[in-house]
Amino acid sequence: MAANRILADHGVLDGYGHVSARHDRDPNRYLLSRSLAPALVTISDIMEYDLDSNPVDAQERTLYVERFIHGEIYKVRPDVQAVVHHHSPAVIPFSVSTVPLRPLYHMAAFLWEGVPVFEIRDVAGMTDMLVRNPALGRALAQTLGSKAAALMRGHGAVVVSSSVSGVVGRSIYLQLNAHLQAQAIALGGPVTYLDPEEGGRVDVGGYQRAWELWKRKTTAQ
Ligand SMILES: [Zn+2]
Repeated sequence: MAANRILADHGVLDGYGHVSARHDRDPNRYLLSRSLAPALVTISDIMEYDLDSNPVDAQERTLYVERFIHGEIYKVRPDVQAVVHHHSPAVIPFSVSTVPLRPLYHMAAFLWEGVPVFEIRDVAGMTDMLVRNPALGRALAQTLGSKAAALMRGHGAVVVSSSVSGVVGRSIYLQLNAHLQAQAIALGGPVTYLDPEEGGRVDVGGYQRAWELWKRKTTAQ
């Protein structure tokens, strides 16, 4: 699954985080690796899950604790075909401060509807921060709503798209936008963000051109 390696190459995923895709023939199932660092994932590690995040055939393999993020989003978002959960350091400051992450350039225009922040304490009080059951997954999916991405306070982010290339592109440009926004704020003075109307007009075509390049460059090939 090239998406895992591309996102690892870009520093979006490190030893943790995961990428899933809805099953192309059965919308009530999704594909996700067994518990493994993304850069090490090969085809034989990909497992099939139902939308309650039960593996169809576990074969005694270890599962990602936070797989419920994926299943619960697929349940309520029929438009979503791919999900990434990551812990990109660049986005963490925006999950713990009062400064909202906002799109300031073209490639991150998909953020124009806003980026909600999931506060796990509101749902479950004190936890170990992990989305380790269906109820927490449902709450996160609710926070995400109809948006393209949500931050998770002190933890990371979840990004969704109608395609694997789209979710990979969005994950990369979410991270870049966070870097650029922090730089723009550090320069001082007011920052001009994309107008929602501009954001709504941008169509990057699922980042298809970049996807072809990323696939070529990734070590997966
Ligand atoms: Zn996580």
